[in-house]
Amino acid sequence: QLDHHGALPRALDPKTNPVCLIESVPSLTRHRFHKKRLVLVLSMVRHFAEELRARGFTVFHYQLDQPESAELCEAGEEACLRDFVARSGIARLRAMEAAEYDAQMLLLSVVAGMETPIEVIQNDQFLIHRETFSDWFDSIPDPSMESFYRKRRRETGMLMQEDQPLGGRWNFDGDNRVPPTGNMPIPGSLVFEPDSITRRVIETVERRFPDHFGDTEEFSLPVTREQVLAWLAEFLSQRLRLFGMYQDAMLAKSNRMYHSFLSPYLNHGLLRSAEVLKAVEEAYQNGDAPLNSTEGFIRQVLGWREYLHGFYWMKMPEYREINFFDCHRSIPQLMKDGDTNLKCLKCVIDQSRRDAYAHHIQRLMVIGNFALLIGVEPKAMVRWMMEMYIDAAEWAAVPNVMGMTLYADGGEVGSKPYAASAHYIDKMSDYCHGCHYRERKRVGEKACPLNYLYWNFVGVHQDQLKGNPRMQTAIQMYRHKSPAERKLIETSSQQFLEQLDATGTDRRLKKPARAAR
Ligand SMILES: Cc1cc2nc3c(=O)[nH]c(=O)nc-3n(C[C@H](O)[C@H](O)[C@H](O)COP(=O)(O)OP(=O)(O)OC[C@H]3O[C@@H](n4cnc5c(N)ncnc54)[C@H](O)[C@@H]3O)c2cc1C
Ligand code: SF4
Repeated sequence: QLDHHGALPRALDPKTNPVCLIESVPSLTRHRFHKKRLVLVLSMVRHFAEELRARGFTVFHYQLDQPESAELCEAGEEACLRDFVARSGIARLRAMEAAEYDAQMLLLSVVAGMETPIEVIQNDQFLIHRETFSDWFDSIPDPSMESFYRKRRRETGMLMQEDQPLGGRWNFDGDNRVPPTGNMPIPGSLVFEPDSITRRVIETVERRFPDHFGDTEEFSLPVTREQVLAWLAEFLSQRLRLFGMYQDAMLAKSNRMYHSFLSPYLNHGLLRSAEVLKAVEEAYQNGDAPLNSTEGFIRQVLGWREYLHGFYWMKMPEYREINFFDCHRSIPQLMKDGDTNLKCLKCVIDQSRRDAYAHHIQRLMVIGNFALLIGVEPKAMVRWMMEMYIDAAEWAAVPNVMGMTLYADGGEVGSKPYAASAHYIDKMSDYCHGCHYRERKRVGEKACPLNYLYWNFVGVHQDQLKGNPRMQTAIQMYRHKSPAERKLIETSSQQFLEQLDATGTDRRLKKPARAAR
């Protein structure tokens, strides 16, 4: 909501409408958010407050490290709002709907509890309001992401020629699955040295939230609108061209590759989706980006981002409780500290701990796939995602975990579980080179655990998945395996999981089951 041109600031007059900004400790500690996320959010809010003051607004900023407001920040939103009303003398409050369910419930309970009337205006951080989305969803027989995306392309005219998609195709996914090469040049990210505001926030986060995930070291992300515009310009000029082609590729040396790293700024309102989409389409029109990259990016923002947000709101609060496969494993220690011999997992976890960032395929196909294969409880996985990433937002984490990653909704969002063996990781990354395990070995000593865990997953869930046309090949392949091989898959998986449950890591894996002849 840090948007100078959004619905809320637009409705305010600097001369007569004071603004209240709250650093609520209960909200900042709802999850053990990564420290870099806390630094980013607090620094963006504090810079936003300065910018509002420069525009002539009177800002009541409840800062958690200021003696006069610390206690109120500890108490949370309602205490701060009551103080704001008493001190500013205003007769009416105006707030914007929250993007997340719990924050919206909190807002409504504050509205109900306060004597001062509060006008809640529609959230405008998404292109489609959640009510419009749910009307559309209920109005057609196939409300899939693809139908939604095509409808939005037609409505916005983006990459359209009359009523046909530019290039004659809606989708360039086929061109966008190119594996990486080890020597491909990856541009370095822009570095923004922390100013005095950010340095103070870093101290506060280290002191006040020592138990939170990760660290604040080498924080150098953009925190103002001006810096974020430079960040966007760098993406357009240096990365967008290859974004599409290498969208699914993964490299040990870079977690960002050609991705935009725009999600935290879109989520907090420093960037608006519409302006980002326009800039990307213009890059294509100016000949600076190919169609496959442009379409690939637009699909993510105009399609997936909007679709999952609308879907989340339609399904909450029940959606975050579902558990189609009835999985109950808690997060193993190796997913917290990266202490594992699975090199793919170690790379992504170490980089996520360091930067609070992993790109989509790393989240889905490395972390998510491992969690799916070992049967992590979906709610625990949502918590892990919320703690780990700089862009953590429940409206995104819940459908991406429940729907995309763990298939906990039984196929409402994804058309099949995104389960994969080492073959996929080896094809789309350079992780397997130098790994302790052998990516081509299915069972036996040094066999990649993802191989036997994958077939074990297919075997265990075959009855639940037998009606899914996209799982037929895998189920048939599993059934054609000899009884001895199936037994070996099962015992290797059991050994691995027992070891994981006992020690939290695979590092001291016992001598594995012997391969069948
Ligand atoms: C298990 C899991 C958890 C996730 N949790 C979050 C989260 O808490 N917050 C969050 O913003 N995104 C989340 N995502 C979606 C996606 O992974 C991130 O938005 C993306 O990786 C951010 O990096 P980027 O800005 O470089 O994205 P790019 O690859 O450059 O994509 C451009 C933009 O498209 C949007 N986008 C792309 N894919 C998705 C998607 N599946 N869902 C929603 N938006 C999408 C994002 O706004 C992103 O900034 C999650 C994905 C998975 C698989
Ligand atoms: S061999 Fe297996 S564990 Fe190792 S990097 Fe490849 S897929 Fe990951």
